[in-house]
Amino acid sequence: MTNTVVVIGAGLAGWTTVREFRKLDSTTPVTLITGDSGDFYAKPSLSNAFAQGRLPAQLVSTPAARMAETLGVTLLAHTRVQALDTAAQSVMTPAGSIAFRDLVLATGAQPIRVPVEGDAADRVLSVNSLDDFAVLHAQLQAGSGRPVLIMGAGLIGCEFANDLASAGFCVSVVDPGLRPLAALLPEAASAELRQALEALGVTFHFGTTVRRVDATQNAENLQVLLSNGLLAQADCVLSAIGLRADTRLAQAAGLAVERGIMVNRQLRTSAAHVHALGDCAQYAHGVTLPYVMPIMTAARALAATLAGTPSDAVFALMPVSVKTPALPLVAAPPSPGTAGQWHAPEAGLWQWLDEAGVQRGFVLSGSRTAQRMAESKRVVL
Ligand SMILES: Cc1cc2nc3c(=O)[nH]c(=O)nc-3n(C[C@H](O)[C@H](O)[C@H](O)COP(=O)(O)OP(=O)(O)OC[C@H]3O[C@@H](n4cnc5c(N)ncnc54)[C@H](O)[C@@H]3O)c2cc1C
Repeated sequence: MTNTVVVIGAGLAGWTTVREFRKLDSTTPVTLITGDSGDFYAKPSLSNAFAQGRLPAQLVSTPAARMAETLGVTLLAHTRVQALDTAAQSVMTPAGSIAFRDLVLATGAQPIRVPVEGDAADRVLSVNSLDDFAVLHAQLQAGSGRPVLIMGAGLIGCEFANDLASAGFCVSVVDPGLRPLAALLPEAASAELRQALEALGVTFHFGTTVRRVDATQNAENLQVLLSNGLLAQADCVLSAIGLRADTRLAQAAGLAVERGIMVNRQLRTSAAHVHALGDCAQYAHGVTLPYVMPIMTAARALAATLAGTPSDAVFALMPVSVKTPALPLVAAPPSPGTAGQWHAPEAGLWQWLDEAGVQRGFVLSGSRTAQRMAESKRVVL
């Protein structure tokens, strides 16, 4: 029987779990298998790299080989796991099967794609990895002033809009909703963000969607038809309409899956010795938490469990910083379904109060974002 811990995925969840595990256990063999290069990078930097003039290679903070050597890990890069056999405790790869004592699924998420018509529909890009970013970067290399159309005015769409507009691109954003960051912000904060991004030159098209993307006659540019009939030219169409947990391996192996791979408080899936965390997981309270801070919390708890001390992942309030320098924002929205409404006691501050007047969430904008800690302390989860 093997004693090896196998980790699938070299994103923040995979590498952080290994790093936390090594703090507690320096001898148990660890094998990390990943479909990409395994280079370590901060994914949040993908949506603010253009304005800083950073090249894809400059975003790598530690090359894969150095990560593997430092952490004492056998790294199988550019290797996709094809299937799991949870009963036999092994994973199948093109190079053969690998046995595990414990398995960690850190397979991340996949960009949601909506059907778009047109002969250039396959040229719509999305960015959820360093490789994706390299493709976007190569396409936009020819320089500023060029038109870029972004599908989606959520977190990632707004961050890219800010970044690309600051880098001199001519950015338009298309969204079927009526305002930016509608899922996170009260209306007044959305209005402030819209104004700040428009002042940078971003054009919003709300209440409409992208219907067709076709190549123009010179084949270099794209012609985009919106469902409201508007025609726009773009050098690049970037889809940022959301991510969906990558549950494919887990589902095919018969693990319990809903919006993510379901785990209990100790991050164990429905199969013994198989754990999950990060963007692929659906945590015990029924939600996915596709952000950096929950991954750090989950990785520490899972490392302790793997090292022999079963530990719960306990998630504190984790406000999200929105990387829109035109209007910095911090958002800690109430849990879905929490009754109540937004109150705005001061400029740049919104508090979600429930029927009993208890604060359940907040949003800060501009210089108020410095009050993030103080406001977090007021929130009752
Ligand atoms: C542009 C952008 C900006 C963001 N900004 C912020 C921010 O400011 N703040 C914040 O908190 N969060 C932010 N996020 C979210 C945050 O970056 C993610 O929650 C986090 O990086 C997810 O890490 P992960 O390890 O779970 O998944 P991923 O980074 O997606 O890693 C998944 C890994 O699994 C591997 N894999 C998948 N399937 C297989 C297979 N079958 N075989 C082998 N390997 C496989 C992949 O190759 C990859 O290495 C941002 C996300 C994006 C896209």
